[in-house]
Amino acid sequence: MMKEINTERAENYDLVIVGGGMVGISLALLLAQQQPEWKVLLLEAQAYGKSGKQQHHPSFDSRSTALSWSSRKIFQAAGLWSELESHTSAINNIHVSDRGHIGLTRISAEEAGVEALGYVIENRWIGAVLLGRLATTSVEMMAPERVAKITPLKSGVGLTLENSGETIQTSLLVIADGANSQTAQQLGIHSDQQPYGQQGIIANIGLQDAHDGVAYERFTDQGPMAMLPLPDFDGSPRCALVWTQPPERAAELMAASDEEFLNALQESFGYRMGTVQKVGERVAYPLALTTASEQVRRNVVVLGNAAHSLHPVAGQGFNLSLRDVATLADVLGKAKLSGADFSSLETLEDYQQQQLADQQNTLMFSDNLPKLFAQSSSVVALGRNSGLVMMDLLPSLRSRFAKFGMGMANKEAGHGS
Ligand SMILES: Cc1cc2nc3c(=O)[nH]c(=O)nc-3n(C[C@H](O)[C@H](O)[C@H](O)COP(=O)(O)OP(=O)(O)OC[C@H]3O[C@@H](n4cnc5c(N)ncnc54)[C@H](O)[C@@H]3O)c2cc1C
Repeated sequence: MMKEINTERAENYDLVIVGGGMVGISLALLLAQQQPEWKVLLLEAQAYGKSGKQQHHPSFDSRSTALSWSSRKIFQAAGLWSELESHTSAINNIHVSDRGHIGLTRISAEEAGVEALGYVIENRWIGAVLLGRLATTSVEMMAPERVAKITPLKSGVGLTLENSGETIQTSLLVIADGANSQTAQQLGIHSDQQPYGQQGIIANIGLQDAHDGVAYERFTDQGPMAMLPLPDFDGSPRCALVWTQPPERAAELMAASDEEFLNALQESFGYRMGTVQKVGERVAYPLALTTASEQVRRNVVVLGNAAHSLHPVAGQGFNLSLRDVATLADVLGKAKLSGADFSSLETLEDYQQQQLADQQNTLMFSDNLPKLFAQSSSVVALGRNSGLVMMDLLPSLRSRFAKFGMGMANKEAGHGS
C-alpha cells in the first residue's frame, strides 16, 4: 500500500526535476546559477557511471550532438562553455548534397558572419562536464530514483518516490524523463507518436584525411545521413555518423562486420570526406516525431524529449530544448522577482507562449526535411535539386538555412542574437 502524503512532514522543494538527462541537468544548472537560494531536487532513473563518463547512460551515451550557436550562447552565459568547448570540433562549413542528383549547396561560417556554424561534441563529454559542475552546486540528486505516485495538492504537488518510499512535495514539478514520458503519463499527459519508419544508426568513424571542420549532410533514397567533424582521437581524424535507414537495412548494417559496414558507408557517402578507415560502436535508434499532449499545467512543466522529440537529421532536438530551458529559467526568475507565483498556470503559460513559435518552426523544419528527401518521384527530386542549386546561387536563402541550423531563425527566442 502506498503512503498518503503527510504535507506537514514531507520534505519541501521549490522545484523537482524528473529525468537527469541532457535537458534536466541543463535546467538544474541554469537554476543553480540564477536562483541559488532555491531548493532543487533532480531524480534520475539510471545510476551515472564514474564522473558521468559511462557510455551506456540513456542520455550521455555514444551519440554526438551538434550544438548550435544559440546553445553556445546559453552555455556561455551559464559559465559552462569554455569547458565544453575544449571537447568540441567547430563546424566551419556545411555541405548539403543529394545522392545521384546534381543539387549541392555549401554554407560557410564566414558567409554567415559567425565564428562557427555549430560545434560537435560527444554526449559522454556533455555528461562529464554538466555532472561535474552539478556536483559543485546545492542541487540535490537521487539516482537511481523514480516517481511512483503524483498527488496534486492545494499548493504544489506531492510525490511518492519508488525506491526510497519517501514522500516529498514541490511547488513546481518539471518532467524531463525523455520521449514517451512515464511520469507525464501518470498525470494523463499523453504523447502523440508519428514513426518515420526509419532507424538512425550512429557510430564514430575514423578517417584517413583531416576533416577541416566540414559537416556533410547527404540525402539518399533510403534516408538522410550526416557526417559531423569530431575532435581527433590519438592524433587520428574522426567524424560522427548519423545514418538513417529503413528498419530491414538498418538491421543488416548493424549485423555487418566492420569491414562490410565501412564498405557500405563509403559506397553510399562517396569520397567527399576521403577514405573511411575505422568504425566504433554502432547503435540504432528508432525515429519518430513525438509530442506531448500538454506542456504546462499549474505546478507542472514538460520539457525536452518528453515535450517534443524530433528527427535527428537537422540536429535540432537538444538545441531547441536548451532554448526552452533558458526561457523557462528566465520566466521563473522574473516571476519570483516580481513576487508572483512562479508555478502558477499564468507564469507557465507565459513560458509556453514565448517558446511557441520557436518550437513550431523547429518541429516543422525537422519534420519536413526528411519527408521531402524521402520522396523519390522525379518531380519532387527535380524540385529538391533545383532547391539546393538555388540555395547555392542565392546567398540570402542559404544564410537563412544556416541561421536556422544555428538556432538564430527565431529572434523572439532571444538566445541567438
Ligand atoms: C541519433 C540522434 C542524434 C541526435 N543528434 C542531435 C544533434 O546533433 N543536435 C541536437 O540538438 N539534438 C540531437 N539529438 C536529440 C537529442 O539527443 C535529444 O534532444 C536529447 O537527448 C533530449 O534530452 P532529454 O534530457 O530530454 O531526454 P533523454 O536524453 O532521453 O534523457 C531522459 C533522462 O530521463 C531518465 N528517465 C527516464 N525515465 C525516468 C523516470 N521515470 N524517472 C526518472 N528519470 C527517468 C533517463 O534515464 C534519461 O537520463 C539526436 C538524437 C538522436 C536519437
